[in-house]
Amino acid sequence: MAARKRWRRYIPDDEISVRAFLHLIGRLFYYVGLHSEYFLLNFGRGARAAVLALWHGVCWMLALGANILRPFFAAVWEDLRAPWRQMRSGLRNIRQVVREEREAGGSPAGKGLAYFFRGVLAYKHLILHGLAYLLPAAALGVLLVTVDGVLSSTFALRVEFRGEFVGFIANESVYDAAHADILDRIQNVDTGEDWKARPEYTLTIVDQAALYSQGELTDRIIETSSAEFREATGVYVNTEFIGVTADSAALTQALEALKEPLYEGHENDDSWRVEFQQNVELKPGLYFTSTIITLDDLLARLHGTAPVELSDGNILVGWDMLGVQAVQNVTRTVETAAEPQVINDPELEWGREVVEQEASPGLEEVNEDVVYIDGQEVQRIQTREPTVLVEAVPQITRYGTYNPYGGTAGDPATGEFTWPVPDYKGISRWASRYHRGADITARYGTTIVAADNGVVEVATDARGTAWWTYGKFVKIDHGNGFATVYAHCSELLVQQGEYVVKGQPIARVGSTGYSTGNHCHFEIQVNGQWTDTRRYVMP
Ligand SMILES: [Zn+2]
Repeated sequence: MAARKRWRRYIPDDEISVRAFLHLIGRLFYYVGLHSEYFLLNFGRGARAAVLALWHGVCWMLALGANILRPFFAAVWEDLRAPWRQMRSGLRNIRQVVREEREAGGSPAGKGLAYFFRGVLAYKHLILHGLAYLLPAAALGVLLVTVDGVLSSTFALRVEFRGEFVGFIANESVYDAAHADILDRIQNVDTGEDWKARPEYTLTIVDQAALYSQGELTDRIIETSSAEFREATGVYVNTEFIGVTADSAALTQALEALKEPLYEGHENDDSWRVEFQQNVELKPGLYFTSTIITLDDLLARLHGTAPVELSDGNILVGWDMLGVQAVQNVTRTVETAAEPQVINDPELEWGREVVEQEASPGLEEVNEDVVYIDGQEVQRIQTREPTVLVEAVPQITRYGTYNPYGGTAGDPATGEFTWPVPDYKGISRWASRYHRGADITARYGTTIVAADNGVVEVATDARGTAWWTYGKFVKIDHGNGFATVYAHCSELLVQQGEYVVKGQPIARVGSTGYSTGNHCHFEIQVNGQWTDTRRYVMP
């Protein structure tokens, strides 16, 4: 993979000369060799393991056969020892000859040498015999030592980057990881530039300690690439990139100094903090050197005195992005109320309400960040869900839905009327020449029900109208030529346009309008003309 890329690099674009061609052939052999070596290295490591296993097997078999082969080994041992024994006895004899010759006053060296060569000639078969064993064993030993040494040595790649030596690594994957790491750390890559670089590799053998880890290699590459990118701090406002400076520590100081005045008087207040109004973010990392500007230039952009090109291509200028605000964290308790609940009760008379449970307020602990700009509170932000200290209790009311006449909204009139104030039969005045209905005396607040199914034609307090004498009243159109009126009510329970069912509560007894006491003025109309109620319904 790496080789393919490098080949492209080594073919000159402008000239194909014989020299370049030969160079190419040379590189081809070099890479074939490099990869062969790699292959052999791995093959050799496998083979060594196999040979070791085999050797253990052989040792075991040798031990097994030792007893059977003992006579053979004894003969071998004898063959190996024989020359030495002969040499020892020969040397003893030579010393004897030399001593005797010296005592006789002759030439001891000459006699000794002559005796030695005679001995060698006489026993040369023994020497050859011994060598026949020794030479192959020595050769095998040398081979094993060499192979073991080669396999144990550390093969490494010497990395050269942009013509500069960087270090030794165990294999290409270390570089690939370092490269990916650097790409990962390069910030703001979307501004256009990208970083692609392949190193030069040379296979070599080095000491294990000389190998670089991926982290060390990353650091070295960054060092050697400082012309391209370097460690710096970028500033983002509301995720928009504003600029980057290498003066990271001074940048942090300058930003902190802007917040300093708002801490005055709150130095020991843990609940008080100062922050930028905008989301100002510092991102340390690797940045392309070409994008790095001075701290002053960056601050000018941030204060809006120098233009900034935004990612969408617009130019931003004249807006101080470094406005600060103070935030105070406060905890307080607030009273709460629970949503009232109404339960329909089909066994309770329609319209009756029974309070089942009284409401009681709850208490919550609320934690808020109170934001101040120029000393003015501008916002309160709840920092977390409130803590409930006392649970609020809701009012629970049972609402009666029992209707003795059954029926549902929209039913046509039955044509028969029910008495509109069921429990009260007392009549203070019947219809007469001067009075159009029946006045049913009843206690204040007593429920008045619809005399038959129909639609509410009027539900009004009648103030300021010709009907003011009726006070609060309801008129129901029954759709069959009949209409009924219920007047002087204290409260109306229905609205104009609503369908009502026979027996449904529609109002409560009162004394509104022209009235001197609590009663329900009940009136029946036939085709728009009032009539005597007694003709149609009696209590
Ligand atoms: Zn009346």
